[in-house]
Amino acid sequence: MSHVAWLSKEVKSGKILCEACSQACVLEEGEYGICGVRKVEDGELKLLVYGLAAAVNVDPVEKKPMFHFLPNSKVFSFGTVGCNFSCKFCQNHDISQYPKEHGHNITGEELSPSRAVELALEYDCDSIAYTYNEPIVFFEYTYDTAKLAHEKGLKNIYVTSGYETHKAIDLLEPYIDGMNIDIKSFSNEFYKEICGARLKPVLEAVRYAHSKGIWIEITTLLIQGKNDSDEEIREIAKFIASIDKSIPWHLSAFHPMYKMLDTPRTPESTLLRAYKIAQEEGLKYIYMGNVDNEKHESTYCPKCSNLVIKRSGRIGQYVDNKLEENGTCPYCSNILEGIWS
Ligand code: SF4
Repeated sequence: MSHVAWLSKEVKSGKILCEACSQACVLEEGEYGICGVRKVEDGELKLLVYGLAAAVNVDPVEKKPMFHFLPNSKVFSFGTVGCNFSCKFCQNHDISQYPKEHGHNITGEELSPSRAVELALEYDCDSIAYTYNEPIVFFEYTYDTAKLAHEKGLKNIYVTSGYETHKAIDLLEPYIDGMNIDIKSFSNEFYKEICGARLKPVLEAVRYAHSKGIWIEITTLLIQGKNDSDEEIREIAKFIASIDKSIPWHLSAFHPMYKMLDTPRTPESTLLRAYKIAQEEGLKYIYMGNVDNEKHESTYCPKCSNLVIKRSGRIGQYVDNKLEENGTCPYCSNILEGIWS
C-alpha cells in the first residue's frame, strides 16, 4: 500500500532526500531507497509498505528483549518487509531482505494502524512493538499507529538498529516509550562489512534517544572472532556507562544464520566473560540471552543485591516480578530504573 513518506524533503538538485534514517538516500523519480520500501513516485517519496504487515505476533515483552518495561506483559508485535541494513547474520532475513532479493517486490497482509491498535487491545496487550524488521524504514506507519495506541492507553516500543535521524527521534519521542537498540559492534569495519552501515550514527542515536527521555535497552549479539574480544566488549560497556549505568545491556549468543552458516555458535563462556567486563565497567543491569541461564537473565537490586525479577524457562515463560509500585525493591526500598506501569 503506497502512502506519502512525509519524513523527506526536496533538495536543490530536485531530488528527494529521505530523512528517516542515516543512510540519507537522495533519490530521483522511480528510484528506491536502500531499504527497498521507500520510492519516489510522481515527484513524492512514497512508503510502499504502509498498512502491510509481513509478520504479526503477540509476544511476551521479555522477548523484544525489554526487561525493565512492563514485565510479564504482552506486546502486540509487527513488522513489514524491508531494511536499511543488510546484516549477514539476520534472523529475519526472509522479510528484512525480501524486496532486495525479490526484484523490489513488496508483500504483506493488510493491517491498518487502527486495526493494529484494536487487535492489541483484543489480545490484552499493554504495548505495541515495531519489530522483526527495522521500524524506521516504515516510519510513517509506526508514527500513525503509535499515536493511536497512546490515545488508547497503550505504550509503544521500537526494536531497532539505531539508525534513526535526530529529526525522526524528535518526531517519535512523544509516542515511543521504549527502544531496544542494537549496538552490533564497536568497529566501523564490522558495521561496513557485515551490516552495510556505519557505527557512528548508531552511537549518536542511542545518546540522542536517551537524552529525549525514551527508555533504552541495548542488545549486542556476540559473534566469535568478529566482535567478542575483551577490548571491544569493554568499549561498548564503557560507551553505555558514559550515557547511563542503568541502561540494561542484553548480551546475546549468535547461532549460525543466513550468510554466516560457517561461524560457530557463541559459547556461554563468552557471554559470562562479557557479563564480567560489563560489571567491571559499572553497568547495573546485565542480561544474557539465547542461552538457558536463569541466574543471568534475572534482575537483582543494585543496592541490596536481592533477586527482584526472576526469569526462567523459555524467554518470557515464567516471570516472577517482586518489585512494588514504580519499581521499588521490596527488601530495601531502592527504586529500580525502568517503565513499570
Ligand atoms: S529509510 Fe530507506 S530510503 Fe530512507 S534513508 Fe533509510 S534506507 Fe534510505
